Amino acid sequence: MAQERVVVAGAGLAGVQTAVELRQRGWEGGITLVGAEPHRPYDRPPLSKDVLLGTADSTALDVDFAALGVELLLGRTATGVSVAERLLRTDAGPLPYDHLVLATGSEPVTLPGTASMPGVHVLRTLDDARRLKPVLDARGSVVAVGPGWIGAEAATAARAAGCRVTVVEAGHHPLAGALPGEVTEPMRRWYADAGAELRTGQRVTAVRDGEVELAGGEVLGADAVLVGIGSRPATGWLAGSGIGLAPDGSVRADERLRTDAPGVWAAGDCASFPSARYGRRLLVHHWDNALTGPRAVAEGILGGPDAADAVHDPVPYFWSEQFGHHVQYAGHHGPDDRPLWRGEPGGADGWTVVWLPGDGPGTPPAAVPTAVLTVDRPRDLAQGRRAIERGTVLDPGRVADPSVPLKAAAR
Ligand SMILES: Cc1cc2nc3c(=O)[nH]c(=O)nc-3n(C[C@H](O)[C@H](O)[C@H](O)COP(=O)(O)OP(=O)(O)OC[C@H]3O[C@@H](n4cnc5c(N)ncnc54)[C@H](O)[C@@H]3O)c2cc1C
Repeated sequence: MAQERVVVAGAGLAGVQTAVELRQRGWEGGITLVGAEPHRPYDRPPLSKDVLLGTADSTALDVDFAALGVELLLGRTATGVSVAERLLRTDAGPLPYDHLVLATGSEPVTLPGTASMPGVHVLRTLDDARRLKPVLDARGSVVAVGPGWIGAEAATAARAAGCRVTVVEAGHHPLAGALPGEVTEPMRRWYADAGAELRTGQRVTAVRDGEVELAGGEVLGADAVLVGIGSRPATGWLAGSGIGLAPDGSVRADERLRTDAPGVWAAGDCASFPSARYGRRLLVHHWDNALTGPRAVAEGILGGPDAADAVHDPVPYFWSEQFGHHVQYAGHHGPDDRPLWRGEPGGADGWTVVWLPGDGPGTPPAAVPTAVLTVDRPRDLAQGRRAIERGTVLDPGRVADPSVPLKAAAR
């Protein structure tokens, strides 16, 4: 093992965590981390929160790469893989590997022709955040297209800075692309309370430098237009490598995060995996998934007695901070699962939605929850997440009573 080398393509959370897990679990061979960005590896969630709010400038990950014996090749882009030769091709020459980990994350979906427009922004990288921040500091006007998580968080920071903020969404509710409207509708008030304008049911027909045109012909002018309409796996560079991709562009990994190429693994935003828990392939673009997937990768590469059990089948989890509220979601609910409310929707004490499987109208039967959404109720989140992980059957009547702790709602 001491002679072998793991090369990791992508120096974001999943790539860095792979290196950390390998060393913690006893990997003695070489580790090379290749990252396209020039910055020391950093964390992304604070970009749309602390960095835009001005409460943090650096979000660098607290990892001592020299002490870990990790070779860090920054500003270097992976351009392809020769599976037969076990070579990662990069813009500065090939790197031989014994094991290769694909961790190139995801990239924002952009609108055609807007890439070089100075007034049109996306928010994925530290450089993106640093480009947007001066507009906020100057109290300029901001139009966010698509109120997904990032749009909502950026709108929060922009309002805190004193900017005029408009958020435009084609769907009829806040966060319409991420969650069912019935559970996000109470969030609409947050925008008004913060002095931001939320315009739902508005289709955007064009984004130009500093302008957004709506379907009705109205044009909204802005110092910054933030396009937050989703992200897709950053896997274009794998074309022609023979490594299997899923139709959504993600690297098609198995339950242990192995790809279909020998010695090649994948983790984080760029990889999808089959979930036995949910009975379907999942592509998860959230921090926790990038943090935990590398454990399975490291165990697999080490190949010890635990390797076969190192299956990545998490209860997906994410959080968001917007307009002074802490929103958390764990699990994965399907269209047939039914939401049960705990607490008054939109109430000052926060509220929780627990999804239970069930068919037909009325209260669903006692069952293991599939997902839980909480607003300012972190205890519900922790207890609901544990119930999902442990397969605890919950009694719907007790779930719906916010005075009963969720952990006491077990049937
Ligand atoms: C602004 C923002 C806020 C977020 N907030 C939250 C949150 O509150 N909660 C939450 O759960 N999740 C949040 N996320 C999502 C979370 O940050 C991601 O899921 C996580 O960063 C994924 O880690 P990753 O390592 O897979 O990918 P990334 O973090 O995208 O890292 C991939 C790295 O690979 C590099 N790369 C890409 N292509 C190549 C190549 N060809 N060669 C070399 N390097 C390459 C990229 O430059 C990047 O540095 C947020 C994301 C963003 C952008």
